[in-house]
Amino acid sequence: MTQPAPPMGLIAELTHRCPLQCAYCSNPLQMDAPKTELSTDDWRHVLDQAAAIGILQVHFSGGEPMARRDLPELVAHASRAGLYTNIITSGVLLTDEAMAALLAGGIDHIQLSFQDATHDGGDRFGGYRGGHEKKLAAARRIREAGLPLTANFVIHKQNIERVEAMIALGETLEAERMEIAHTQYYGWALLNRNALLPSREQLDYVNAVVEAARARLKGRIAIDYVVPDYYASRPKACMGGWGNRFINISPSGKTLPCHAAETLPGFTFPSVRETSLRDIWQASDAFTRFRGTDWMPEPCRACDRREIDWGGCRCQALAMTGDVGRTDPACHRAPDHDLMAQAVVEADAETVLDLVPRRLHQAAHD
Ligand code: SF4
Ligand code: SF4
Repeated sequence: MTQPAPPMGLIAELTHRCPLQCAYCSNPLQMDAPKTELSTDDWRHVLDQAAAIGILQVHFSGGEPMARRDLPELVAHASRAGLYTNIITSGVLLTDEAMAALLAGGIDHIQLSFQDATHDGGDRFGGYRGGHEKKLAAARRIREAGLPLTANFVIHKQNIERVEAMIALGETLEAERMEIAHTQYYGWALLNRNALLPSREQLDYVNAVVEAARARLKGRIAIDYVVPDYYASRPKACMGGWGNRFINISPSGKTLPCHAAETLPGFTFPSVRETSLRDIWQASDAFTRFRGTDWMPEPCRACDRREIDWGGCRCQALAMTGDVGRTDPACHRAPDHDLMAQAVVEADAETVLDLVPRRLHQAAHD
């Protein structure tokens, strides 16, 4: 059997703990309890294996990765192993002291998320009073440390009218890259979809704003922008294809082809506590079942884009159709494509915009 090329990146979800409560969080509704988290030694072992199998980058994520006190130690360990290190953070715990420890560990890049352009919106959507101010301070620290900054703005129907102000904020903060990221509807975001999914008019507005900003900032700040799946005619190559480019590890050590895959029924996701990363990547059912094109149904099987988008997202196929093996309904050729338009109609008709905040399940504190 031909072995697959090594994964490019490891996404290390160190913890599901997070001081924020974003209703658009893509973490699963049932999160890992702190007492089940991998230890520092477990993670060191994982990082060594990652480097040994040819992984190039590690993205420390969560929850809030900075909620783990051993983050600087893990960054240092990954750096020594030759991995490029990135932290995906809300920034509210990035104090001067924390920044110094990360720099000493050799951190290469920090991606900082914002919930809005304003203090009021940022604190409200993050569910954390004073959070926006802390993020502004974190951004300044990152730039003063000479690190590249990616500013990530998550947009949805309740903050979308401030997208111009978000781009202006990214410029003020001297971000090298900005992500204007439409909410991805997994986990808590899926639960809150009707209160978050923008209308067609709102989407057209953002498209125009981003296009103008890209032209204006060309050569200075790169802007990543992806149309939300519900308005797309083609699906995204989720994680660059199933089992193709990334390994995601949950706080308790489960290995997942993407962070939302835990919701998929009929899978056993192997744990790094019991199985080597190499075996998981090369031979586990979890990583091979939807790898490549053999599993595909029609219309994907005969489609000339099958090795471009890999049939889209399995989690979305399941969430929308109840069948993990169907073509992602985001595709205009998919038999279930009309479900996306129905979801938009439903969200447009929603008058109650209350959000269910993301909270670690009560049981997780036991
Ligand atoms: S989306 Fe919000 S709540 Fe979820 S991990 Fe990120 S900062 Fe925390
Ligand atoms: S039919 Fe399948 S492979 Fe073709 S564009 Fe749609 S999702 Fe992609």
